[in-house]
Amino acid sequence: MRIAIVGGGLGGLAAALFLRQAGLDATVYEQAPQLREVGAGVVVAPNMVKPLARLGLADELPKFAVRLDAAWEFRRWQDGRVLFVQPMGEECRRLYGADCFVAHRADLLAMLQAALPAAQLKLDHRCVALRQTEGALHLQFAHRDGGTSEVRADVAIGADGIHSAVSPALHRPVQARFSGLCAFRCLVPAAEAPPPALRPVQTLWLGPGRHVVHYPISAGRLVNVVAIVPAGDWRTESWTAEGDTTDLRAEFAGWDEGLRQLVGSAQSTKRWALYDRDPLPQWSHGRATLLGDAAHAMLPFFAQGAAQALEDAEVLATCLREASAASVPEALQRYEALRRPRASQVQLMSRGREVRNHLPDGPEQRQRDAELARGDPLAQSAWLYGHEARPQPAGPLPPA
Ligand SMILES: Cc1cc2nc3c(=O)[nH]c(=O)nc-3n(C[C@H](O)[C@H](O)[C@H](O)COP(=O)(O)OP(=O)(O)OC[C@H]3O[C@@H](n4cnc5c(N)ncnc54)[C@H](O)[C@@H]3O)c2cc1C
Repeated sequence: MRIAIVGGGLGGLAAALFLRQAGLDATVYEQAPQLREVGAGVVVAPNMVKPLARLGLADELPKFAVRLDAAWEFRRWQDGRVLFVQPMGEECRRLYGADCFVAHRADLLAMLQAALPAAQLKLDHRCVALRQTEGALHLQFAHRDGGTSEVRADVAIGADGIHSAVSPALHRPVQARFSGLCAFRCLVPAAEAPPPALRPVQTLWLGPGRHVVHYPISAGRLVNVVAIVPAGDWRTESWTAEGDTTDLRAEFAGWDEGLRQLVGSAQSTKRWALYDRDPLPQWSHGRATLLGDAAHAMLPFFAQGAAQALEDAEVLATCLREASAASVPEALQRYEALRRPRASQVQLMSRGREVRNHLPDGPEQRQRDAELARGDPLAQSAWLYGHEARPQPAGPLPPA
């Protein structure tokens, strides 16, 4: 069976590795001419650490990722007062059998790429069309020199992200809804960041209409800062669009001095308009399916985009391992039945958090802060972090 994976992001590369582990022949077609340093911080939650460990990469992660000692350290916008903090480390390992890390997306990508034989990754291949005929798939690619090429495959996997080219070939279009918010994303060198931001802690500052999340990445060399603010007239939904640090600083006038110092130390910023999508009605059609953001683009408030892509990749490989070329459509239906309910749930639960995070000062905010102080987010995340993505090797499809 020849398997074509469109997109060499975290989901596509992980799928290639799991398929290789399952003894299957998969090739990744990535539009970029090289997998460059792009992106910023990604949370590597326990339900992502465990699939990585099953790929044999558990020892690689601590070389560049930062193991969180604490998370959900909620602080008040005005004075930095700590509303709640969740110890991680031992408690996280005890509950979920793995640590929680934070990492630079590019470091994760480089780790996956290094584990994949070079011949399995074709760069400068932008998928522009997908055609299914009886028993086969034809993928058309455009190249930077203006040329095109075609590949025939038995299975196609669209792992090509939020603006997937494969997705429209498989289901009716789903409209993206503008959230009214945007994210400023910055990387601050550790030497320029205020010391509290260097701790291995995921910190969230909550204030009226906006919030900030930060944690160190890249073995502590950088601090990842994400500020969620009203979008104004910004509508660009792109991970690579440049923003303006003056606009960013202006958003936090009047906030605690420590937070302003951190935001003020950013020399550049990306700016990304946040769009929301309903879960797709289906992921698969015939011999083609989707995974990762192409299947379930979600708002970032649960920090689960990459973890869900890894879960998809592992389950998909398990389903295809048992398939013959003829039974691929059934294997893809099984994959979708196993994955779509959970990924859709995470996608839907990623919504609405901003309303709670952005409450103006007043009775509702005080009630929220009191609830935070009594919370136990680590224990309450069992459904998320304790999930085992590996399906049983055989058995009937779960109900749709
Ligand atoms: C440039 C970039 C920066 C990011 N930065 C962050 C970040 O800082 N923090 C964070 O939490 N998440 C970030 N993400 C998103 C995060 O990586 C994903 O949410 C998550 O890892 C799921 O990954 P994915 O593989 O499904 O999709 P993605 O990571 O989006 O990967 C999709 C891949 O498909 C390729 N592709 C797209 N269209 C085509 C096509 N037509 N033909 C061939 N290849 C195609 C893209 O170039 C990309 O490499 C970023 C994604 C990208 C693409």
